[in-house]
Amino acid sequence: MSNIDASICIIGAGPAGAITSLFLSKKKIPHVIVDAANFPRDKVCGDALDLKVLRVLNQLDPSIVANEILPNANFAKAWGCSVIVSKDKKYNLDLDPSPNGYPFFMTCKRAYFDNFLAQKIASPYALFLQGTKVKKLSRAGVKWKIEASNEQEQITINADLVVGADGDHSAVLRSVGERKIDRVHYVAALRQYWKGVSGLNPNNHIEIYLPKSLPLAYLWIFPLPNGEANVGCGLQSELIAKKKIDLKKLFQELINEDAVIADRFKNATPLEKPVGWGLPFASGKRRVYGDGYLLTGDAAAMICPTTGEGVGPAMISGVIAAHYIEKAVQQNRFDKEVFAGYDTAIYKRLEADIKKYNLLRHLWPTAYNSLIRIFSGLGISRYYFNKNVDKWIETAKSKPIEV
Ligand SMILES: Cc1cc2nc3c(=O)[nH]c(=O)nc-3n(C[C@H](O)[C@H](O)[C@H](O)COP(=O)(O)OP(=O)(O)OC[C@H]3O[C@@H](n4cnc5c(N)ncnc54)[C@H](O)[C@@H]3O)c2cc1C
Repeated sequence: MSNIDASICIIGAGPAGAITSLFLSKKKIPHVIVDAANFPRDKVCGDALDLKVLRVLNQLDPSIVANEILPNANFAKAWGCSVIVSKDKKYNLDLDPSPNGYPFFMTCKRAYFDNFLAQKIASPYALFLQGTKVKKLSRAGVKWKIEASNEQEQITINADLVVGADGDHSAVLRSVGERKIDRVHYVAALRQYWKGVSGLNPNNHIEIYLPKSLPLAYLWIFPLPNGEANVGCGLQSELIAKKKIDLKKLFQELINEDAVIADRFKNATPLEKPVGWGLPFASGKRRVYGDGYLLTGDAAAMICPTTGEGVGPAMISGVIAAHYIEKAVQQNRFDKEVFAGYDTAIYKRLEADIKKYNLLRHLWPTAYNSLIRIFSGLGISRYYFNKNVDKWIETAKSKPIEV
């Protein structure tokens, strides 16, 4: 039985928790970070990393992207994206590949990427406890008592501030009474790794397909290094419940029988059974701070509701959380007033997508699919992409996250 006194305890060392910890260490703020898993560990995901991920890492240390990611064979560079329209037709948004340039997306198995971040956590300011699961959180006065255990022992951590970075099934969220699933703002999704999917774009485009059976959602084929691909699909939980959909069956039918994509899987090999996990959309905003706590990443429902991207937003919430924690430490107070504005700061980049999602789901469930199909085929989309992509890349290279 061990007792640890720490002012700050981060629970979860996925992208949200790891980035919170790395930015706290950069600010020389001591903390404990706990994860139930021993890294490397898997996380069900599409494995697509957008430019926000590179932006946050550049803010942490520009040498990471330049020296450890761009030349790293565990990351594949997607020089664009494609919308699959029919068996023979895709609408493409392209970037010219360049050896040291920034692609539109990177793909990397989360087992690798999360471990890549976790390996950077060790610092004189961070005590990192892996394989240590938090079982119970309680609050006496202004102190948290965090009860955890690993294979060897029970551990109690006494802290002033808890950062809930423990993902979709967050224990912190439960203990502050916020773990309610709102099916309208929640997606159930599946991932399956494949090898040998045919027809992949030579420049590694990430591909999406919008069949009628997936209203408000898409099936993805995201190429990975070594000829593998991450394939998956998701569906709003409300629609799953209303229409009693068996997502696994639907996914298998698309892969095996769909007239547009099934041929591409004929000579391919699945590397695992489909595995599922949930996506809490930012349209179902949560109370993300209170006396003695902050939530980040999936625990804070940070997933973009129109694209399903959660890694970049999780990392951005980590940067912003570290900023608010610095302020709290300077004032030596951890009450909710000191965190006022944290919610606005983390959700503000997602507001436009939250509005779009709310409009589309009210309008007509398949509107999302039809609109993406239509817009991706219009010259104006390519014009908009070509006009802005250099700006987005420049932002990722040189613009810190403003709080
Ligand atoms: C099928 C699917 C596809 C997706 N595709 C994409 C994509 O292509 N691109 C993208 O950007 N996003 C995608 N997302 C979303 C993305 O995976 C999440 O938004 C992201 O993982 C959130 O990071 P996080 O750090 O908040 O949580 P997580 O990555 O879930 O990390 C949480 C950590 O907390 C730990 N933990 C949990 N409970 C405890 C406990 N009690 N005690 C101690 N530790 C605990 C876990 O072990 C874990 O390491 C997808 C999600 C799904 C389900």
